Amino acid sequence: MCGIVGYVGPKPALEVVVEGLARLEYRGYDSAGVAVLSDGKLQTEKRAGKLANLRAALQANPRSADGIGIGHTRWATHGAPTDGNAHPHVDEMNRVAVVHNGIIENFAQLRMELEERGCKFRSETDTEVVAHMLSEQLTEHNGDLGAAMRSVCRRLEGAFTLVAISEDDPGLVVAARRNSPLVVGRGNGENFLASDVAAFIAHTRDAIELGQDQVVELRADSITITDYDGAPAQVREYHVDWDASAAEKGGYDYFMLKEIAEQPRAIADTLLGRVAVDGTLTLDEMRLAPEELRQISKIVIVACGSSYHAGLIAKYAIEHWCRIPCEVEVASEFRYRDPILDPQTLVIAISQSGESMDTLMAVRYAREQQSRVLAICNVNGSTIPRESDGVLYTHAGPEVGVAATKTFLTQLVACYLVGLYLAQVRGLKFGDEINAIIGQLARMPEQVEKVLNTVQPVRDLARSLAEAKTVLFLGRHVGYPVAMEGALKLKELAYMHAEAFAAGELKHGPIALIEDGLPVVVVVPSREGRSVLHDKIVSNIQEIRARGARTIVIAEEGDESVRPYSDTLIEIPAVPTLLQPLVATVPLQVFACELALAKGNDVDQPRNLAKSVTVE
Ligand code: GLU
Repeated sequence: MCGIVGYVGPKPALEVVVEGLARLEYRGYDSAGVAVLSDGKLQTEKRAGKLANLRAALQANPRSADGIGIGHTRWATHGAPTDGNAHPHVDEMNRVAVVHNGIIENFAQLRMELEERGCKFRSETDTEVVAHMLSEQLTEHNGDLGAAMRSVCRRLEGAFTLVAISEDDPGLVVAARRNSPLVVGRGNGENFLASDVAAFIAHTRDAIELGQDQVVELRADSITITDYDGAPAQVREYHVDWDASAAEKGGYDYFMLKEIAEQPRAIADTLLGRVAVDGTLTLDEMRLAPEELRQISKIVIVACGSSYHAGLIAKYAIEHWCRIPCEVEVASEFRYRDPILDPQTLVIAISQSGESMDTLMAVRYAREQQSRVLAICNVNGSTIPRESDGVLYTHAGPEVGVAATKTFLTQLVACYLVGLYLAQVRGLKFGDEINAIIGQLARMPEQVEKVLNTVQPVRDLARSLAEAKTVLFLGRHVGYPVAMEGALKLKELAYMHAEAFAAGELKHGPIALIEDGLPVVVVVPSREGRSVLHDKIVSNIQEIRARGARTIVIAEEGDESVRPYSDTLIEIPAVPTLLQPLVATVPLQVFACELALAKGNDVDQPRNLAKSVTVE
């Protein structure tokens, strides 16, 4: 997830590219860089940090450009956010420059092959392999950058948008895509490329959306699009009628809506590159040796807010798969209660930003007690992963909306991966059992997409409840933390009183709250495997309905047993019990978001909140 821009035409290329990057900075801001041809010579400038750092460097060292340029704002996935890892990446001869959005899954293998041929690498990124491969293929194809790109792409696995220029053909920008976005902007005597139309909307509104596995060759006066074998390709041309700020949000009114819609992709990206060809899990960045993981006698998860809820769900999965006792604690409480930690304790710290001060303090405390610490974070190179023994990054891309959505679901995916990895290294599960669960996880993007395609009734329901004073949420098993996440979303976005209870706990007190018409959302567990739980919650629904509650029931499609007791029934796809939070949370996000919008709230920046909480 990053911002990519390419330009060819008569305007000052550097300015066009940098201005385009500015419009894409919301997509990533770990570093920024550009490559241009200046009197036929390839020149790059790149800087860690925000675009302002690149602008300052360009001002300090002004250069002319020949009407062609590419640029990138990075959202690091492989390698820390440093100058050296910033894009563009060039080959050893400085003949070709490339920028990349995504993850090249087989980069380790490709890098090994290139190193065996004597190639010297300058960065830790997955992207650099492409620069060297393009250079080799340019020689092979007599300087034909389009042919070189097609040939390189045939060898790549994973998700990528690539944009390259070379000294061999100074009027040509070449780009390719698979599983990552790329749009062409058709101008008059000039053409543009970008991750989204926001980058070029000031110049043209005529766009072409590239399809899967296509390569585009862009000159000032021509656009040629082919598949990876060079055959002409089908594309979709359209006219953009959004304004620039809507374009940044991909046509959505709020980043949060866009981020909810991005969840299938974010889950798929978080799974990318983590399963080896033989089906075993390979979590390279874990940096915790299998021997160390075999010694672990207890797990403590520390986190705040939505990350804490992800931790609560992880406990069910980890204890079930690994039979290791697992505690989950709000990070701000952790170090003050003198927790029992030792070198056999694995502390898992979950934080989207990797900067949450409460979680960081818990990490430092755990390390002082000699415990091993594993971070689950979304921001590469942030403080918590740096101070931990190991890290597993969620590849959700930047989340601009303050309320966690896609980062919550990807934290769940990362937790499942950790659980399965522990089961694998400790020999607790057969390879084919682990593979079966990985296969189920791999199908989750599709299931989440299904939920997204059927949530309109949830929107209508939310609008009808805009005047409600309180909403209660009930769940059992993994549905309980899902209920907590639903209540939190409603509090933070709709500024409404909302509370979650374990459904079985209701009769011990909170049932006194139920009164006529009170909306109660119930998350019903899957019938498969946990039928006792399922039946118990059906009884709980009847209990509250008998006392006047308006029941909003989230249940598996085809679960007819709940229909008679549901004032509103929201169906979700049937998935394995432990994975159900990935689908059950989505309607709750939509519910809170829509209810907040009905009240006229800004869902991207709810009052009193900040995205990353760097105070204790
Ligand atoms: N995987 C590449 C990197 O870490 C590209 C990341 C991006 O999409 O910005 O450098």
